[in-house]
Amino acid sequence: MPFPSLADIDALTGEFASRKSEAAFLQHRQTQIQPLLGFTLVFCTLFYLAFALTDLAALGFGTDFLSLLAARMLVALTAGSCAWLAYRRRLRVRALRLAASLSEAVALGCFMLVATLRPAEFHWHAMSLAIMLIVVYLYIPNSFVNAALLAFASTAILLVLALRLGRMSHADVITMSMLLVLANAFGALAARRFNRVSREEYRAQIELQHAAERDHLTGCHNRRYLHDSLMRTGTRHAGLCVVLCDIDNFKRINDTWGHADGDEVIRSFARLLGAMTRDGVDSVIRYGGEEFLAILPATSLEEGIAFAERLRTRFAASATPSADGRDSILTTASFGVAAAGMRGDGAAPLLQDLISAADKLMYEAKRSGRDCVRAMHLA
Ligand code: GH3
Ligand code: MG
Ligand code: MG
Repeated sequence: MPFPSLADIDALTGEFASRKSEAAFLQHRQTQIQPLLGFTLVFCTLFYLAFALTDLAALGFGTDFLSLLAARMLVALTAGSCAWLAYRRRLRVRALRLAASLSEAVALGCFMLVATLRPAEFHWHAMSLAIMLIVVYLYIPNSFVNAALLAFASTAILLVLALRLGRMSHADVITMSMLLVLANAFGALAARRFNRVSREEYRAQIELQHAAERDHLTGCHNRRYLHDSLMRTGTRHAGLCVVLCDIDNFKRINDTWGHADGDEVIRSFARLLGAMTRDGVDSVIRYGGEEFLAILPATSLEEGIAFAERLRTRFAASATPSADGRDSILTTASFGVAAAGMRGDGAAPLLQDLISAADKLMYEAKRSGRDCVRAMHLA
């Protein structure tokens, strides 16, 4: 159970360099990103529609005005549908990004039509685009690369339109280009910084959570996790099996080889337990000094006993080398296995009852001479 390390943060984008870490981060943030996307799209759409007033003022009522109104309605329809989806459906992260990119692309495309039909106002168009770029980089949640591609492409298209249709002086074109380059640079830098800060925050949160829920020596879950997560949420599994393991005569190991070697034996038991349990299904808890608890959902008593027997024989056969390399430390462990199916009232079995039963069974195994498994099915 190694620490789920997060990859480095990319220097250019401020996002995690590895896809896996980035996907975990986005998944974690999804519940915040989704309403944020919905809200931002509605907000921007309202502004986009309100700016139809400027078309009317510049062009008067006519076919050009109506074409731009239709284009603005298309933007509203696209962004509105994406916002509706973001509010109503649980979207995957990829779908959220697609919705963001699509809405941005349609809005920027419509904006180019506005610029084409209103060629006398390129100064204003440049200012509008600069504001839109900040929105694309910072306010609409999207990947850095998608945002940057859309921003660069729209900047280039507007500059070409300005050169072809704008009838602007060289000085105006240069100023306009500089302003748009500045908006792009500022937007990209701010997006990168925001990405980095939010990912560093996430990393710190994961590290803190890991430190709070895991045992330092073995990396297994600790009792806080057992009480805060497993016991509080309960179990929804129809069948549940709990195995309590205790290393035999451990005090003697400490007394003979010293605490450091004792720690190594504890670690090797934890590694074995980790390797024999199912990732993301079973939970392994360091219950005490040399006691471990394995919680195995959807596992029958027979399967639990077979698991404990396998663990018992493998541990008894695996020697831990002592720190000086001269000895190999061999020892055994005792096991209490308790399992239960669905209760009479249809409720899932109580974890606490199973742990208490497994504890008693483990002591029974100790009394029976150690290195054995004792098991029971709870009614
Ligand atoms: P039994 O077979 O009855 O379980 O005997 P035991 O000696 O294993 O049982 P006992 O509970 O008396 O001893 C457990 C010892 O484990 C006592 C304690 O000093 C030691 N211990 C607890 N935590 C750690 C640890 O993190 N590292 C080391 N090296 N020893 C520990
Ligand atoms: Mg003990
Ligand atoms: Mg012991």
